[in-house]
Amino acid sequence: MPSIFTKIINREMPADIVYEDDYVVAFRDINPQAPTHIVIVTREEISGLASLPETGGHTHILNAAKKIAEHENLFNGYRLVINQGKDAGQTVNHLHAHLLGGRPMAWPPG
Ligand code: 5GP
Repeated sequence: MPSIFTKIINREMPADIVYEDDYVVAFRDINPQAPTHIVIVTREEISGLASLPETGGHTHILNAAKKIAEHENLFNGYRLVINQGKDAGQTVNHLHAHLLGGRPMAWPPG
């Protein structure tokens, strides 16, 4: 059964897609936690960071995040978050990073 994110990647579900390349697709989060909140998803359906393969273009998430942040004019800074597993609050089992920006953020995160 494909994940929600695979359905978005395959255009079977609508989303505001802001970036895509050979490895990742990025779209605005449906429940934004900051003025800019973009989810960057691997095209390959990997269940989470704990299942990251040793090879492949999956770490390209970082390069995509940098490009998207520039495009979104996040010159004051931004945060990249990957929730892995129950304790981190992961809700979609398809590897993705959250790019958050447009407001100051507290540390440590909640
Ligand atoms: P997680 O909790 O797994 O780290 O992040 C999943 C994220 O996906 C959440 O921030 C949630 O709001 C977002 N999300 C879940 N379903 C959809 C959807 O159908 N469309 C979009 N655009 N975002 C979604």
